[in-house]
Amino acid sequence: MSIEDIKKKYRLKFDHHTHTIYSKVGPYFHGKGRIIDNARAAAKRGLDSLAITDHGPSDFYGIDLRKLPQMRRDIALALASFPKLKIYLGVEADIVDTENGLDVSPEDFGKFDFVNAGYHYVPKCHMIHNFLAFRFPWPKKLQEKLRRQNTARIVKALKSNDIKTLTHPGDKAFIDEHAVAKACEETGTLVEINARHKHPDVSDLQIYKQYDVKFVINSDAHRPRYVGRFAESLALAMEAGIDPERIVNIQKR
Ligand SMILES: [Zn+2]
Ligand SMILES: [Zn+2]
Repeated sequence: MSIEDIKKKYRLKFDHHTHTIYSKVGPYFHGKGRIIDNARAAAKRGLDSLAITDHGPSDFYGIDLRKLPQMRRDIALALASFPKLKIYLGVEADIVDTENGLDVSPEDFGKFDFVNAGYHYVPKCHMIHNFLAFRFPWPKKLQEKLRRQNTARIVKALKSNDIKTLTHPGDKAFIDEHAVAKACEETGTLVEINARHKHPDVSDLQIYKQYDVKFVINSDAHRPRYVGRFAESLALAMEAGIDPERIVNIQKR
């Protein structure tokens, strides 16, 4: 099915992974739009709901947890402008080596409407090795070691927390897709098909679909114009043989 046909036949109900200027480091804004800008884009695209999910506090571009009340106020203002849209305050927590496996502690979970989690390059988690090994030829044995370590981190985070969505699994670092899929199945965690990253790709999705998991398509928009982008991801899922019924935010028009 062509991208145009997909857009005609299906709609995205919600986009629960978007970034804003609250993902920043020093004066550099990693997300380029304000909360109101993402809300405007979501309303224009006819989404039922939107989530603001900036990076967890340990990330290079991580949120400052002290700014959460300000984010809530920005959301309230955006809701006043777009009353038909629901807007959630979430977070894309980093999978790291802490007690609960995330950079958002169990005590801070309640400050968000929900928590997504993803693997990113963060110091102390074999950052340099993963970065280089994922991009350049790397000895097989060392690759396997990283794969084991990364998989263990992800499985631990999934089993220790109530995570809504595992974001872009398999992007940025090697993982054992079977073990991750099994952990998503056991914990009821949504597997994200990410519109911005290369993974999960078709062959990754062919593994995930063998398990009793549900999928979600998210834009991972870092600019408002990408909020609600989904058709290419749905095409990818179809190519992998995933029934759109298994994707929680896809609806026939
Ligand atoms: Zn991410
Ligand atoms: Zn993201």
